[in-house]
Amino acid sequence: DGYLARIEENRHLNVFTEVYAEEARQRADDLDRRWAANEPVGRLAGMVIGLKDVLSHAGHGLQAGSHMLDGFVAQFTATAVQRLLDEDAIVIGRQNCDEFAMGSSNETSAFGPVRNAADPTRVPGGSSGGSAVAVQAGLCLASIGSDTGGSVRQPAAFCGVTGLKPTYGRISRWGLIAYASSFDCVGPIAHTPADCALLLEIMAGPDEFDSTVSNRPVEAYSAATQMASAPRRIAYLRDGVESPGVDASIREATQRTIDALRAAGHTVEPVSLSLLDSLLPTYYILTTAEASSNLSRFDGVRYGHRTAEATDLIELYKKSRTEGFGSEVRRRILLGTFALSASYYDAYYTKAQQVRRLIREETERLFAEYDFLLSPTTPSPAFKLGEKTGRNPDDDPLQMYLADIFTVQANVVGYPAISIPNGATPEGLPIGLQLMASPFAEASLVAIAQEIT
Ligand code: GLN
Repeated sequence: DGYLARIEENRHLNVFTEVYAEEARQRADDLDRRWAANEPVGRLAGMVIGLKDVLSHAGHGLQAGSHMLDGFVAQFTATAVQRLLDEDAIVIGRQNCDEFAMGSSNETSAFGPVRNAADPTRVPGGSSGGSAVAVQAGLCLASIGSDTGGSVRQPAAFCGVTGLKPTYGRISRWGLIAYASSFDCVGPIAHTPADCALLLEIMAGPDEFDSTVSNRPVEAYSAATQMASAPRRIAYLRDGVESPGVDASIREATQRTIDALRAAGHTVEPVSLSLLDSLLPTYYILTTAEASSNLSRFDGVRYGHRTAEATDLIELYKKSRTEGFGSEVRRRILLGTFALSASYYDAYYTKAQQVRRLIREETERLFAEYDFLLSPTTPSPAFKLGEKTGRNPDDDPLQMYLADIFTVQANVVGYPAISIPNGATPEGLPIGLQLMASPFAEASLVAIAQEIT
C-alpha cells in the first residue's frame, strides 16, 4: 500500500505505464497468509519490483515504449521474470522506457518522457529511465531493466541508485524484446550492490530457451557482498579524471574515490584505452545493424500496429512501420539497413566487427593485469529535458550518443559492470561511478562495489 500510494503521489514523474494494484495486493495478502500459517516462502517474499516495458510477463501488456505494440499482451513470461515470481517477488507494474530501448534520456518513449526525481526538469537517463526513477523515488524496492550500451547503468547514475549489467549470457534473454542481440543484457536496478547481487543470483543461470546463456554454475553473489574484499589491482581511465569533456564535479568525485581506494590498500593505476574513440562508432554501427534485423518482425502482419490505409502488401509494410515507429527507431533502422546493404557492408559492418575484436583484445590485455576498470559512469550529470533530443534543426543527434562513452565498452566486449552512487554535483545532481570486471567475475564486482558504497 505504501508503494501504491507513492506511485499515485508521483504520477507527474511518468514512471509506470501500467500499475497492477489489485494483483500486487493479492500477492501480498497471499504471502501474509502463508507467513502466518508458517508455510515456506521464497527468497524474495514481499520484495516489490517493477519491470521495464521490454520484459514479457504473461497476460500483461508489453510494448517497449512504442505505439507499434499498442494493445499487445505477452503470451509467455521471460525466464528472468519467472525466476523472480517463483521466489515470491511482487511485480507492481511495468515501467516507461525509451522506444525499443533506444535512447539515453527516456525521451523517445511513445508514453512521453520520465522525469528525474532529483530535479523534474531533467531527464532520468535511458533507456531504463522509468526503472531507475522508480527506485530513486521509492515506488518499488528494485527494478529489472535491460542494458545494451548502458541502459541500466547510465540512468542509475543519473538517479543516484545502483545498476548492474552482468556478463553477456549470464541471464537468459528469453522473453526480453530484442534490440541488439549480441549486446543485450537483463540487469537489476536497486539501492545497493547487495540487492542487485541477490536479484542477479536468482535470475542468472542456464535456460533451455536461450542458446547464448552460459551453463556456468551461478555463484552466491549475495553472500559475496558480505565479505571484505582482498586488496585489488584497479585500473582507472585517465580520461575519466582528466578529460575536459567530463564535468568538473564528476572528475573530482572520481578522484576522491580513487584516493579512498588507495588509502584502503588497493593498487589503483591510470590507464588509457587506445580505442576509446572507436567505441561509440563500433557500438552504433553494430547495434543499428542488429536492430534493423530484429525489428523487421514488426511488419503489421506478424506483429504490431497495422495501418488502416494500405491497398497492397508493400504499402501495408511501409505505412504500418511509418505509423508505428517513432523517429529515433526509424533513424536506427535506416542506419542499420545502410550498414548492412550490399555496397557498404564491408566498409561498415565488417569493419566494425573487426574493430570490435580489437577492442576485445585490448580489454583482455588490460584485465590480464587488473581486476577492475574504474571510471565515471557518465561524462555529465542528468541534463535538461529537451536539451539533446536532436529535434531542433541546429541540434546534433550525436550529442545524446556521447552520454554512453564510458558504458558501451562493457557491452562491446560482453564484460560485467556496475554503476554505484558517488556523491552529487553542487546543484545536488547524482554522480555515478562505474566498475567493470572480467567475464563472470560478478561476485568480486558486487563485493568491491558494496565495500565502496
Ligand atoms: N543509450 C544507448 C542507445 O541508445 C544504450 C541503450 C541501451 O542500453 N538499451 O543505444
